[in-house]
Amino acid sequence: MEKTDILSLRLSELEEIILAMGEKKFRAKQIYEWLHLKRVSSFSDMTNISSALQTKLSDKFCINCIKIVKKLESTIDNTVKYLYELSDGNHIECVLMDYKHGDSICISTQVGCKMGCKFCASTIAGFKRNLLPSEMLLQIYEAERESGRKISSIVLMGIGEPLDNYDNVMSFLDIISSKEGTNLSLRHLSLSTCGLVDKINELADRHYGLTLSISLHATNNTARSEIMPVNKTYPIETLIDACRKYIDKTGRRISFEYAVIEGVNDGRDSADELIRLLRGINCHVNLIPVNQIKERDYKSNKNSVRNFQLALEKGGLNATVRRTLGSDINAACGQLRREYEI
Ligand code: SAH
Repeated sequence: MEKTDILSLRLSELEEIILAMGEKKFRAKQIYEWLHLKRVSSFSDMTNISSALQTKLSDKFCINCIKIVKKLESTIDNTVKYLYELSDGNHIECVLMDYKHGDSICISTQVGCKMGCKFCASTIAGFKRNLLPSEMLLQIYEAERESGRKISSIVLMGIGEPLDNYDNVMSFLDIISSKEGTNLSLRHLSLSTCGLVDKINELADRHYGLTLSISLHATNNTARSEIMPVNKTYPIETLIDACRKYIDKTGRRISFEYAVIEGVNDGRDSADELIRLLRGINCHVNLIPVNQIKERDYKSNKNSVRNFQLALEKGGLNATVRRTLGSDINAACGQLRREYEI
């Protein structure tokens, strides 16, 4: 019988199994704390659990682990990029960044990606599998352990499309924010999506305090479908409509990501179209100078990014340019894994 991945269980789910094993409910909380607070990797380290129960636990459950196979440290800022190997030999990456308000980590949610965005390195080799909740948590636990740094915010912007791995990502959110575990406020978490509208609607009903980031990158259907195939399934009007409903239901402002690509989406016409599209929406626009990847010839131009920002601001949109961190270590998502797998 395959063992259950205990790190992927919410406390309520663990309690149910522990009760079914004929044990007292409070044991589940003790075990959960060992896993998510003390972060032990073996049942034998759970010293307030009898050795008989430790044996029962290790017969029924496994404690997943991930291994750092490469670590790159930026010499210009405190950015660290980890390449991890999962227990089945697949590779993912995450990036630890130093911000004024504390350390932030960008984690992966899938091995590869199905979404096919033209400018993104994560999607080029295709999709392998979804990450388990435990594998999302372990990116954080392992980075904290290795670096000795305390992570105060999380972004789901690494490899993969979080809303294409919806159930596992929801479990991850519940576990990382649980008060018996890491107790991270979801106000300190951003989830970025290319725009899976049905899942955005489902997420809105959960009323989480997280920041939803929408990867927009283009201002009309022709241009967006060209660089983001997902737009053919969920065109801009339906996406923006879902965003409006999301804001109404959650009371949270949305962040729109816009990778500025020279000659593709950085013209005055694009700025004007973006202003019209987002007018009246409680949002923030995050401009990302497109990161060059070796498979494509997209470039960004500092002046045109700045002019684009000024045009948006003049048009009444709240727009900032994302600071580039770890530029010397290829910190953009998917780049390290690609180098490693080829
Ligand atoms: N699948 C999710 C999250 C992963 S990508 C999403 O699409 O939002 C995280 C962000 O990085 C997205 O906004 C994505 O569009 C952007 N991105 C990917 N490749 C990039 C590149 N080469 N340059 C700039 N931004 C990029």
